[in-house]
Amino acid sequence: MVQRHRATGDHYDLRFEADGVLLSWAVPKGPTLDPAKRRTAFHVGDHPLEYLLFEGVIPEGTYGGGDVVVWDTGTWRPVRTDDPRASVEAGELHADVFGQKLRGRFALVRRGERGEREQWLLVHKRDEHAVPGWEPGDHPRSVLTGRTNDEVLADSDRVWRSDLPADRAEVVLKPRGADVAEALGSLDELGAQGTWEIFGRSLKVTNLDKELFPGRNEEASVTKRELLGYAAAIAPTAVRYLSGRALNMRRHPNGSRTKGFWHKERPRFAPPWVGSWDNPDAEPGETRTYAVVDEPAALVWAAQFGALEWHAWTSRTDQPHRPTYALVDLDPGTITSWADLLVLARLHRDAFSHLEVAAFPKVTGSRGIQVWVPIARGPSFEETRAWVEKLSRTVGAVVPELVSWTWEVRSRKGLARLDYTQNAINKTLVAPYSPRAADGAPVSAPITWEELDDPDLRPDGFTVRTMVDRLAERGDLFAGVLEVQQKLPPLG
Ligand code: MN
Repeated sequence: MVQRHRATGDHYDLRFEADGVLLSWAVPKGPTLDPAKRRTAFHVGDHPLEYLLFEGVIPEGTYGGGDVVVWDTGTWRPVRTDDPRASVEAGELHADVFGQKLRGRFALVRRGERGEREQWLLVHKRDEHAVPGWEPGDHPRSVLTGRTNDEVLADSDRVWRSDLPADRAEVVLKPRGADVAEALGSLDELGAQGTWEIFGRSLKVTNLDKELFPGRNEEASVTKRELLGYAAAIAPTAVRYLSGRALNMRRHPNGSRTKGFWHKERPRFAPPWVGSWDNPDAEPGETRTYAVVDEPAALVWAAQFGALEWHAWTSRTDQPHRPTYALVDLDPGTITSWADLLVLARLHRDAFSHLEVAAFPKVTGSRGIQVWVPIARGPSFEETRAWVEKLSRTVGAVVPELVSWTWEVRSRKGLARLDYTQNAINKTLVAPYSPRAADGAPVSAPITWEELDDPDLRPDGFTVRTMVDRLAERGDLFAGVLEVQQKLPPLG
């Protein structure tokens, strides 16, 4: 993980967790994905684990005085060693990094004299994650809160007291989320429209009192103001599943009960901080320029634009033909009951457990269940599709009375579909935490496998009114989708 730290000099602190401490280097120009660039890195003393997710201000005049944002987080794996500390001693460490911004293999090599402040070189290997021209300064925001260093300095919610023991050094001035809470307060104070300051961006918001989703069970309708509030509250988490990917928006500008439509083109009037990607494979007449949600405010923009549903590509823009997940889409058809769909889902649970493949379920917010299977990039969509088809056919054979196949829809109308065809470029499934265009504003919610046995589980049971609390209580149940790197095993 990496912190951007402005002290006497501006630098990035690169840290690898090992043996209960953080092996640390200060990188003045910051790490880059560009393999042509060599970066000087200074090996500094180990830092305590407690410092790992510190974001805030270190008082002037104390060690490291300045401001800090959590610039990247993720997991890492030492390469060709079980003892990274010994590698550091020997002067060379190779690391596979699975961060939100940094990905791929980095090499750190000692160049200077041994001593207090050893000089090393940091380079990104020429691998599938390399991106020529990539500069850390183009991606300044915290992956934790969406803030820049300036914004943290201006409104510090935490202070690090390096004179105190590590377990007491972090002083909380305001609870985390206070910035979002404050922003939600200012949204409530706006009239029907206005300019909303959110995540450090100014966004023109309109029609705030429009009722976008009729209420369910006597509940009040969900207004656009409430949708934007949800988008802001969920954005720091949801953005992790959207960043670096083309976004297909499902727009219902006049509400969930009116006809919606796909909107893929990034509108020209979108603010410059809404990301952009040109699909090099776009044929004439196809969408070329997509919006990319790379920071929390961009998701709020999408909601303001009338996107009630967020569907991101399952490949990243740097390699659009290589998915990062295989997808199992359990679609209930018209006559399959929820109970039958749960039977299918549990059979998939057993299959993944038997195969020892990490897989993550979520309810769709509509009628179905999906299972997302993270993979190390490499296989094509054809390969993931074939794998999921084989898996689902094996599972489906156990309960042939419950399932049909895509091409059989006509003859066996109404049965559940195991739709492996979703494993294709630019076929998108609804993103985790996205609302759905339906009464009550249900959301697609990650669940645990155990929750398949909860008699109260419903595919559309979580809503924009309950999801944020559930996230606070349960944490991000989908986090493993971003962390696990696995190969799909051959199926017998
Ligand atoms: Mn530092």
